[in-house]
Amino acid sequence: MLADVEVLVLGGTREGRLVAQRLLAAGFDPISSLAGATAAPRLPAGRIRIGGFGGADGLTRWLRSNNIRMVVDATHPYAAQMSEHAAAAGQAAGVPVLRLDRPGWTDHPDAATWHWVDGHEVAAATSARRGSRPFLTIGRTGLAAYRRHLAAHPVLVRVAEPGVPAGDDAGEWPAPWRVLVARGPFDLESERRLLAGGAIDVLVSKDAGGRATAAKLDAARLAGVPVVMLRRPPTPAGVPTVPGVAEALSWCLGQGRDPRRRRSR
Ligand code: NAP
Repeated sequence: MLADVEVLVLGGTREGRLVAQRLLAAGFDPISSLAGATAAPRLPAGRIRIGGFGGADGLTRWLRSNNIRMVVDATHPYAAQMSEHAAAAGQAAGVPVLRLDRPGWTDHPDAATWHWVDGHEVAAATSARRGSRPFLTIGRTGLAAYRRHLAAHPVLVRVAEPGVPAGDDAGEWPAPWRVLVARGPFDLESERRLLAGGAIDVLVSKDAGGRATAAKLDAARLAGVPVVMLRRPPTPAGVPTVPGVAEALSWCLGQGRDPRRRRSR
């Protein structure tokens, strides 16, 4: 019966894949949505759709035409636009939205020693002041600011897929930059070798949270490398938020028991 309750999972994250998997195991038949930004994404189990919806209005129409009864927004903490659109579309279509926001690293034992900044422009300027051989672990977007501040530096930039920066940051990598294509999880020893091998003297990171990419933070402390940490964008107001997959599943089960959320196909 739960398979009659249409659930949309906004993914592109490990949590999104886990939510889809747990929903399937619980008897739902969720649809996972990916942005289509990566050429070879890790795919969740179950039904999948790929590509943008066309803004909040497009998503509102999509929710209605697909009889969606609830949305789990399990996108990355820095996918702020998608989360805003999900909140607005859920409200417009009368569909409850849950935000799954994995805890960040604010409780990390070294968090007080990091340089917390808002936005890429400040992160780029701060990293240029703190070092001359930065390691950028911020993904492929937002790179324009680093290009402005660090184009002449031997920057090491780690991205999940090959290719040049995309979207607003489109263009070639600056000649002195070295691009490392790698996907986590990363362990402490390999992160230590990476910092030492590149003579890295400042690490730039998002407050992504989770364990898969946390080893770089310990490696930085052990190597005495300062960390520039981008604060998270705010989550949309009025959207209930849970920290993990188990809580998201409980919420979906609770919504699924609500007769208003059920509809026969
Ligand atoms: P974003 O800036 O918040 O979103 C930009 C646009 O991409 C959205 O307005 C939407 O287009 C589309 N979009 C984003 N996520 C989508 C999804 N799950 N399904 C369908 N369309 C989606 O997002 P982003 O930061 O570029 O992230 C894109 C995807 O990569 C997300 O799924 C996110 O979970 C994943 N990701 C992001 C990061 C990061 O650091 N930002 C890291 C790891 C994974 P329309 O307006 O046309 O609907």
